[in-house]
Amino acid sequence: MSQNTKIPFVDLVTPHQELQEELVNVFKSALATAGFVGGPMVDGFEREFATYCGAKHCVGVNSGTDALRFALTAAGVNPGDVVLTVPHTFIATAEAISQAGARPDFVDIDAHTYTMDPEMLRQYLQTQCAFDPATGRFVHRTLGKPVTAVVPVHLYGQMADMDAILELAGRYNLAVIEDACQAHGAEYFSKKENRWRKAGSMGHAAAFSFYPGKNLGACGEGGAVITDDETIARKAKMLRDHGQSRKYYHDIEGYNGRLDSIQAGFLRVKLKHLPDWNESRREHARKYNELFAAAATSAITPFEAPWSKAVYHLYILQVENREAVQADLAKENIDTGIHYPVPLHLQKAYSSLGYKQGAFPVCEKVAEHILSLPMFPGLSEADQERVVHAVVQSAQCAGPQSVLRA
Ligand SMILES: *Cc1c(COP(=O)(O)O)cnc(C)c1O
Repeated sequence: MSQNTKIPFVDLVTPHQELQEELVNVFKSALATAGFVGGPMVDGFEREFATYCGAKHCVGVNSGTDALRFALTAAGVNPGDVVLTVPHTFIATAEAISQAGARPDFVDIDAHTYTMDPEMLRQYLQTQCAFDPATGRFVHRTLGKPVTAVVPVHLYGQMADMDAILELAGRYNLAVIEDACQAHGAEYFSKKENRWRKAGSMGHAAAFSFYPGKNLGACGEGGAVITDDETIARKAKMLRDHGQSRKYYHDIEGYNGRLDSIQAGFLRVKLKHLPDWNESRREHARKYNELFAAAATSAITPFEAPWSKAVYHLYILQVENREAVQADLAKENIDTGIHYPVPLHLQKAYSSLGYKQGAFPVCEKVAEHILSLPMFPGLSEADQERVVHAVVQSAQCAGPQSVLRA
């Protein structure tokens, strides 16, 4: 029955079939020259992606996780520092902080945007930290460690409230590294500058991931550091390539963290389509919003702040009885996801940080109710109608809804 054909969470097959000839040509030209590492495809992609982000430098690397780690180290984060981020993100954000030798610590998110709450950041900085009169350094009072950077995460394709975060970071000398791994092409209206800014162009540096399912994905792994800062770009280049300043002259110890030439070639092909793909995602988000509004459900649709042009890497709904709704959608052959079910401070991997349930109430509540609906550029209107219909049916079965937002 056509009613029951599968609606995938994301369709990665169709766009690659549509671009097959161009992608195969990239592979053929790599074979013809054996240019597998570095070279013109990487240089070309770096130039084009920097331009797309409105930034001066792009350094192609292995993954988004490496991009975050290299950006943190290149921006001056040292082993033993404390680096702040949110508990409502993919674990890679915190892993990269630890891999840079620092201790991740968390501030809660805003209940509407799902990104770092600048007020929580301000409270953390003002109540838990102080300038050490002996060294002049900004330190955490009880940990006794310097607090040197903040990593706002542009989750689900919407940028964090960067003006407020940058203002606080400036006051306390913190480096700002944007986790833009879900936000290729997202924009933020900076009141301070009175203009729209692209994700990745506002902090001291930013990290992007080109994991296949991201808005701009490779046909494998990839990532990039974006920055306007010449020194950060130079250091990131050294870190991705064994700390070399030139061949076999190692100024520091680095990593093997380079971006493959073939992946860079694929990314150049796909980057040309990114603006259209993002616009399709925005249209699908509008359509979902419209359909849910018409159905008058109590499910909570995404909030797009007035300062935000989101690119809807994911479309997030909050429902009362999430597990039941997800199961009902599965019965209707509709794939969904949960991003993410367990906040980082409650993950086993971070038990040593000593946080208990209740430490970050907004994020904990959100994690219980969020459901990611199918979202990808080729999603059809008919499928969106089927998804919304299934949610509404299921939500009605679940009974009266409570107000989930404070
Ligand atoms: C995907 C992602 C990463 C990590 O990117 P990889 O390329 O998988 O290493 C980091 N942060 C966020 C928010 C992500 O979504």
